[in-house]
Order: sequence, then C-alpha cells, then structure tokens
Amino acid sequence: MKIKKLFLFTVIFIFSCCLAAQASNLWLSLRATGTPPKGWVSNIIFAFSGSTRREIAVLPLNVIANEAKQSYKSKIAALLSEARNDQKTVRVRIFSLQNLREFIIKPSSKLEVSESGEKKPVFLKTGEKTEIKGSGDKIFLKSKSGVKTFAGVIYIKSKSPLIVRSGGRDKKIYCNLKVSWTGKNLILINRMPVESYVAGVTDSEFSFSGSTEAWKAQAVVARSYAVACMGRHKKEGYDFCDSTHCQNFRGLSSRDSAGFAAAGQTKGLILKYKGKPLSAFYHSTCGGKTAEACEIFTEPADGIESIKDFLEGKTLCRNSPHFKWKSVVSKERLLSALQSDELSNPGKFLAKIEVPVRGKSGRARMVKITGEKVKILPGYQFWLILGNNLGWGEVESTWFDVKKSGNDFIFEGRGCGHGLGMCQWGAAEMGRSGASFRQILKHYYPEAEIGNI
Ligand SMILES: [Zn+2]
Ligand SMILES: [Zn+2]
Repeated sequence: MKIKKLFLFTVIFIFSCCLAAQASNLWLSLRATGTPPKGWVSNIIFAFSGSTRREIAVLPLNVIANEAKQSYKSKIAALLSEARNDQKTVRVRIFSLQNLREFIIKPSSKLEVSESGEKKPVFLKTGEKTEIKGSGDKIFLKSKSGVKTFAGVIYIKSKSPLIVRSGGRDKKIYCNLKVSWTGKNLILINRMPVESYVAGVTDSEFSFSGSTEAWKAQAVVARSYAVACMGRHKKEGYDFCDSTHCQNFRGLSSRDSAGFAAAGQTKGLILKYKGKPLSAFYHSTCGGKTAEACEIFTEPADGIESIKDFLEGKTLCRNSPHFKWKSVVSKERLLSALQSDELSNPGKFLAKIEVPVRGKSGRARMVKITGEKVKILPGYQFWLILGNNLGWGEVESTWFDVKKSGNDFIFEGRGCGHGLGMCQWGAAEMGRSGASFRQILKHYYPEAEIGNI
C-alpha cells in the first residue's frame, strides 16, 4: 500500500512538474539513478532549465517521499521559483567611472563577436589578446589575426569568463559583453546571473575577517538592494554601474573567495518589508546610531529606521577608525567647494556654517551657510557637494559639529557614509561575537523579514 501510494504520488508529481515547467517556458528533464535493492529506482533527478538547457534544480525520490505528506504544489512552486531565479540576469556597466576609448580583452576560450543578430559572428581564437578601440564612428578589433571593423555596437560572447584590461587594471567578467561606441567613449555592459553579481559585490564591498556570518549578512543585503533597485540606470540601457553610486563591483569572484561562499550559502535570500524586496542600504560605520531615512532622503524609505548600534553594553562599531573623526578645512578650500554648486554657493565669501535642524540620530538634516548670501540646504546635499570636491575623507558623514577657528573650519563628527541600514563595522563585530547572519540582519533592519527572491 505504501509503495502504491508513493508510485501514485510520483506520477502525479512528475505530471504536475511537466505542466508547470511548460507554463513557465522551462524545460523539464528526468533522469532515474541509484542502485536500489530489488531493481527499484531510488532517485529521480528533476532538472529544470531554460533556453540554455542548464541543469538548475534537482530532486531525488527520497525527497519526494518526504514531501508526500505536504502539498506537492508548494514543492513545485519552490522548484520553479529557484529555476527562475537562476535565470535572472543583471546588466552592469563596467569601468563606469572611466572615460574609456580602448581596452584589451583576454579570452580563455573561443570568442564570438557579432554586430547584431543578423550578421554572422566573427570568431577569435582561444587566448588571442585583442585590442578594442573606438574611433570615428567605428569599433576596431585588433589581434594577431589582423584588424576587423564593426559599426557602433558589438556583442562579445565566449564559453568562459573574460579578462578585460583598462588603465592597467584587470577585471574578470561574465562571458556576455555588449560594447557600444558613442563617438566619445566606449560603454561596456556585462550581462551576468544575479548570483554572480551578488558574489562579486560582496567581495568588493566587504573586507572583514573573523566571521562568515557577517559575510553572509552582507551577501543578503547586496542581493536585496540589487533586486529592489534593479533598473536603476534603465534609461542609460543597463541596471547598475560598477561604482559605489550603485554597489561596488570589481569583477567576478574567484571560487575560493569569502564573497563567493557567502553568496552561495544564502542563495536567493533577500530582505523584505511588507512582502516587497527591501532597498537594503548599508554603509561603513554608523558611529553609534544608524540614520533615519528622512535624515538622508526627503521622503521616508520603507523598512529603514534609526537603531542604536549597541549590544551587551558596547557600541558595536567602536573600533572603526571612522567611529569619531576630526577634520580641519581651510576657509578657501571650503568656499571653493561650496561655490561649485548653486545649492551651496554663498557668493564671494564665507562667514559661518551652522546646523539648524538635526534628525533623530543627530545627523544634520539642514545646513545653513552664511556668506555674501545665506544658503540653507539638506545636510545630505551638503555632504555630497563636499565629498565630490574635497574627497570623501574630509567630512565623512552628515553627523558633525562645525565651528570656525581663525582661517579654518573644524568639523568633528562620527561615522562614515550615509548611515542608513547595516553598519559594516558593527555587523563584523556582531558576527565575531557569535551572532548568526539572521540576527545581524534583524539588528539592522528590525522591521524586515528574510525571504526568497
Ligand atoms: Zn549607479
Ligand atoms: Zn555602527
């Protein structure tokens, strides 16, 4: 009776999987394996895959048996969701801060270059170093085999990751690259699976040792931000740039990196607020309290709130070099930075800087600049203007006091970065103290829940 039941369940399960896979435009293949007693098949491997027919989800028969008591529909839904997630891709503009006119590509397998879907691709040999250059209205590919000319857009594909070099820096990228020549610079857009992006971002944004749980928290946060903010540069034809404007992405992770492991161990997990992916902001050091969303943005950001970065009698990020800071900026440098933007330009001279309005955490919500004219602007804008002109090491956050002393302005403050969401120094400390990645995320995003993409 038991065997009969299992057989019937398996048949229903396979049939349902076939229907569901077909409805989702996925392929379903089945493979029976195992060396069971008396000739019984003990495992059926389910493999859902898309157009590439990549094997992306497996389900042995013993798992099906365990699932027999539960609804098979929910299991199918979970499998399909995993299959779909594996196929999600993200378009990242690489070398986004450089004004690129040429770069070098080093393929480790055969390279396929095409102008568009209509034209026949040109194949470049394995390992053949190729220079790609924009000039006039054309793109030139120069290798040992000679020079080939293309119109303004090319697509490069290969079977394995590519190494691209610009300005003496190598970047390992996914094997799907679109190169456009605007007449002034080359735009490189790399399409890759979301999980590869998350691993790369985690390795680029996090660098703390001593806690794999903190790394896992960072991977979930990076994935949440990616899913919630997908298409941030949609108008420009890609999803994210590779700078800290979006999330820093230095390239694909190597398989032995901490970011690769953290992304794999948290695969598909994101933070959600009221069922929706959370824009999980994070920063280096909060200085004791994270920021309230309205201290940075004019509108409230759902699921982000100010918390005390304090646990068991200690401020978590106390060991950060950015926990407390002091910066002396000469009046001339400060005036010239403020003059760069109409929002902050006080005219010919600068007399005083004040913080008339502070937020819940103590950060400057408004800054008043008195000179030839009086300017009042949001503290966040003030911080961005100074950062862009003086560098980010002078006024490290919007949590500061400022006073004039002779010919100088003295800023004394706390924390580094916008202060929203997870404080990385604090997360690393929590992880080292034995907290799990779920506890770390609960501490920094108390209103959010962890769920699947
Ligand atoms: Zn960006
Ligand atoms: Zn902190």
